[in-house]
Amino acid sequence: MKIAFVASEAYPFVKTGGLADVSYSLPRELARRGHDVRLFLPRYYRIDKRNFRLALVHAPLGVPLGFGEKWAALYESPHAHPVRTYFIEHDAYFGRDGLYDDGYSAYADNPERFTFFCRAVFQAMKAFEFRPDIIHCNDWQTGLVPVYRKTHYASDPDFAGAATVMTVHNVGYQGVFHKDNLFWTQLGWDLFTVDGLEYYDQINFLKGGILLADAVTTVSRRYAQEIQSEEFGYNLAPEFRKIRERLHGITNGVDYEKWNPATDPRIPKTYSASSIAGKTECKLHLQHRMGITVDRGIPLMGIISRLTYQKGTDVLAESLFTAMRTDPFQFVVLGSGDEGTIQKFEHLRATFPGRVGLFWGHDEDLAHLVEAGIDLFIMPSRYEPCGLNQMYSLKYGSVPIVRATGGLDDTVVDWDEAHATGTGFKFSELTHESVCAAISRAIAVYWNAAAWKKLQQNAMKFSYSWGDAVIEYERLYSSLAGPAKNRSADRRP
Ligand code: ADP
Repeated sequence: MKIAFVASEAYPFVKTGGLADVSYSLPRELARRGHDVRLFLPRYYRIDKRNFRLALVHAPLGVPLGFGEKWAALYESPHAHPVRTYFIEHDAYFGRDGLYDDGYSAYADNPERFTFFCRAVFQAMKAFEFRPDIIHCNDWQTGLVPVYRKTHYASDPDFAGAATVMTVHNVGYQGVFHKDNLFWTQLGWDLFTVDGLEYYDQINFLKGGILLADAVTTVSRRYAQEIQSEEFGYNLAPEFRKIRERLHGITNGVDYEKWNPATDPRIPKTYSASSIAGKTECKLHLQHRMGITVDRGIPLMGIISRLTYQKGTDVLAESLFTAMRTDPFQFVVLGSGDEGTIQKFEHLRATFPGRVGLFWGHDEDLAHLVEAGIDLFIMPSRYEPCGLNQMYSLKYGSVPIVRATGGLDDTVVDWDEAHATGTGFKFSELTHESVCAAISRAIAVYWNAAAWKKLQQNAMKFSYSWGDAVIEYERLYSSLAGPAKNRSADRRP
């Protein structure tokens, strides 16, 4: 199949979050299976042209926008071979330090920037006569692509066979802008309705993508259910319910070439389920690195996370004051984000000397050491579309304690002492009591050597790679693609 994969970031070119990992792994896996996959990205200033061997393939590329047309240059990089990666360059929009914000607030011209990007992707495909079977879009930045497919390009023969897939990685980010920005899109006000882009008298890029895509996916089965409810749907629950027949949950795979304790070059000692001794060495290294008491016997719990409301780290920090008084264990954090949460953890460290290790910032190497060195990983997320760290933790034998939501609920099985089954610990409510109870439960099993060994072994058997996930995407693509399904009809809402 010919697949255009459209995203606003992709590893290794540019990454701010998990989307970049998906935009690297999924296209690569599809290409390995013989599909012709083209990845489209903006050419941000920070993407080094020389490093990634960007070659100019088309310029100028006319992109209709607002009252007229703007110009782009199209580059290609062989760096992600076998995926062919294209970059849309327009310095006035992407030639700046940040991707979406200046570090404090979102760029005011984001609607204009990403309208341009979506439109440019179509123009680029036309320029080099790439006629895709599938256009796979990701998050609000690409939300206008399905809209354009059904409007401006509805009767364009180049896209007659092209079905659109919209993947929602996190419904908390939707691209909501003042309605005047509809101007940039060159779409008519007939789309400014409850069944179109309109959202509380504003325009919502993600909503447009959801309603006009041929299929919508989210990154776990449970999350696909949850977003149809008011609690998780961030005001788009009615839209998700409306399209539930074409809404699918496909869990993100793990890149085990990168995240495998048996081969990981970033940890001091490799280990596996059958030979786990190296894990203790990693623990001692981590304790030393984090400046906490070096002690192989004490349970070591940790978290690697953005410190945001979504992740529930505020409640976790508060709960730990009680939990650490109740049970003897150490705690390490690798994270960045909310200043108030950072202060709570700093206070925790001062309260429990030698037991709390903190590292503020982003550090890939340290993330691997934390995964390898801890005994328990905690993720108390308020919501979690998929979550990767709990899956990494399973592989590293770092037993996850998770709130039963989204991908966490799908990928972790609660420990059942009677049957010695399960891979971690789950709790339902995000309250101090529930968090402390889950921690106590986990620590109790830790002290039972036989049970702990079994639990750790169960966890390490878990495996879900991109090779598994890609089969589900292929199945979905096949159900959409093909000349039998006439997609050229204008399907304006
Ligand atoms: P999300 O994408 O919502 O942030 P995920 O669990 O899906 O959460 O993925 C987070 C990814 O980012 C993981 O690979 C995790 O290890 C990594 N990560 C998060 N914070 C840090 C950090 N401070 N340093 C290094 N890696 C981090």
